Amino acid sequence: MKRALVCGAGGFIGSHIVKRLNKEGFWVRGVDLKFPEFSDTAADDFVIGDLRDQALCASVIDRRFDEVYQLAADMGGAGYIFTGDHDADVMHNSATINLNVADACRRRNVKRIFYSSSACMYPAYNQEDPQNPNCAESSAYPAAPDSEYGWEKLFSERLYLAFNRNHGMECRVARYHNIFGPEGTWTGGKEKAPAAICRKVAEAPSGGSIEIWGDGAQTRSFLYIDECVEGTLRLTRSGHAGPFNIGSEEMVTINQLAQMAMEIAGKKLRIEHVPGPLGVRGRNSDNRLISDTLGWAPSQALRAGLEKTYAWIESQVQRNTRKSAA
Ligand code: NAD
Repeated sequence: MKRALVCGAGGFIGSHIVKRLNKEGFWVRGVDLKFPEFSDTAADDFVIGDLRDQALCASVIDRRFDEVYQLAADMGGAGYIFTGDHDADVMHNSATINLNVADACRRRNVKRIFYSSSACMYPAYNQEDPQNPNCAESSAYPAAPDSEYGWEKLFSERLYLAFNRNHGMECRVARYHNIFGPEGTWTGGKEKAPAAICRKVAEAPSGGSIEIWGDGAQTRSFLYIDECVEGTLRLTRSGHAGPFNIGSEEMVTINQLAQMAMEIAGKKLRIEHVPGPLGVRGRNSDNRLISDTLGWAPSQALRAGLEKTYAWIESQVQRNTRKSAA
């Protein structure tokens, strides 16, 4: 039986990867500071522990896993990453986790680690035109990420690739672009744009309004969780280290995303533009390299994923409303 370790298994993407590995018949160990919030873990063994602790890392990486998925990170949406209040934590916590996991795997002769980097590592100067951002993998240097979160991702992707060169490991690096879907953080300050917008639309009374940070003309693309998991597994099992973008090429403005959520909800709401943390002006995945190399790229329309996500967030909102009324 194949064995996998998922670091960050209590988080959004990690918990979905555990489910998929479980379906494939893997024996799966998950590690996280917390259990998944919205459903029971599908892991065979789940360790609550802090991956910043070297001893904990050594104790969970106690055997030769066939695949390790390293998704644990101190992260959140724009409201967490761009305010500057969490910069030291984001850099220190995530870098320490990656240093520990890479080294503990090397000591156990675990070869294949998947690492989730982020599109946030791309240079801000290539993402100023909202209609024409450049996020080709080759555009990463000279480096100029717009957040400390992006700088840490750049450091850690280089760390894993250096372990490949110097320690004969087979690490795989993806640069995720805005992953969304059911069972993702949707409230509390760490949620990202699609979840935040779905929540605002679900909570607004008909004829009311929702707030959008900035003028809403900033562009992004959003990848549904199932395609993220598919791309992650394909890359991990491929003969290519990357880095590769794993993202959608369907770029929309934040205003268009909000309109789509309102159409799905069947609600007509006013959009109020308010000041808030924004990030770069434009960003889109560039899937040429992953298509050419792996013969695969995400293809699902944003609308299909947003319909499923809206339905799930609406059910969460209704549950919370019932709870506070009781
Ligand atoms: P998430 O916050 O839901 O999951 C991360 C998990 O890591 C959390 O459950 C958290 O408790 C855990 N964690 C944090 N510090 C830890 C520690 N010290 N020890 C053990 N566990 C710890 O985030 P996600 O959306 O599932 O993202 C997973 C990975 O993908 C992260 O590395 C993130 O940076 C990367 N990524 C995500 C997106 C996205 O849109 N969701 C985009 C780009 C990159």
